Amino acid sequence: MSGRPQPALAGVIGWPITHSRSPYLHRHWLERAGLDGDYVRLPVSPEQLPAALAGLAALGMRGVNVTVPHKVTALALCQQLTPLATRVGAVNTIVVQPDGTLLGHNTDVAGFSAPLRDAGLAGRPVTLLGAGGAARAILVALADLGAGEVRLVNRDQARSAMVAAAVPELTFTAYGWAELESALQDAALVVNATSLGMTGQPPLDIALDRVAADCIVNDIVYAPLETALLRQARARGLRTIDGLEMLIGQAAEAFCLFFDAMPDRTDDAVLRRGLGG
Ligand code: NDP
Repeated sequence: MSGRPQPALAGVIGWPITHSRSPYLHRHWLERAGLDGDYVRLPVSPEQLPAALAGLAALGMRGVNVTVPHKVTALALCQQLTPLATRVGAVNTIVVQPDGTLLGHNTDVAGFSAPLRDAGLAGRPVTLLGAGGAARAILVALADLGAGEVRLVNRDQARSAMVAAAVPELTFTAYGWAELESALQDAALVVNATSLGMTGQPPLDIALDRVAADCIVNDIVYAPLETALLRQARARGLRTIDGLEMLIGQAAEAFCLFFDAMPDRTDDAVLRRGLGG
């Protein structure tokens, strides 16, 4: 041991991981905070995940974010979980504890909730499109925001029932895409958590003519950032939330956990421009 202070190291594990924008966010905040550290992309295949996580302490890493396809598998590889990670059934942030054990968190919930805290969703209907990995955290966030009926629209209805069963405090109704019009009636919030509208995926083609007059439209897709859904919502004068809100929000929570410092959120506009927003 040289006794010299170690740079604080964290990273993001996924397969593939080349697309991840997290290093840009964390390096920006590290620089702003004047901290000696780095945040790197770590391509790890599903077969190698147990070995990679077991090696974090030996590598001197503060922790990692985990992304597709590892968020559910990683849960079982952490020695401890926060109550929130247990409720979601997935971890996106793992912190190496002083004794070398791994504590699994889920910061996606806070990232999604932050722009909706003052939205007055209590008791009001919400339409959630998609029941994949992201929807798990969003359902927990909606329960904590006090949302009324959650109308979950998905092709795979068994998957809808499974993710909704994990959040029993929510009032939930499953819809197929053929019943979309009813699902959107008077909605106070519409969330796109499908991969529709993403670069390389089919478009999301829905009409927002039945939603409540004060409806908020949240598209968590961030590539592209300006989706057809958000364009339509703005044209109708509805409040919109784009995918960078959740992306930056979950990263900010993870930054606090890794580096014991608050990220500088005063220049999110600069970050957004750097991320193509
Ligand atoms: P998953 O692969 O876990 O889920 C994909 C969802 O999209 C499922 O509900 C699936 O339905 C649905 N879907 C896919 N193709 C179609 C189709 N052709 N028609 C109808 N439904 C379809 O993905 P994630 O939940 O991880 O991610 C979903 C989106 O959210 C992605 O665009 C991702 O980039 C984005 N995201 C954004 C985040 C942010 O911070 N802004 C965080 C996480 C994700 P089915 O179950 O029927 O197959």
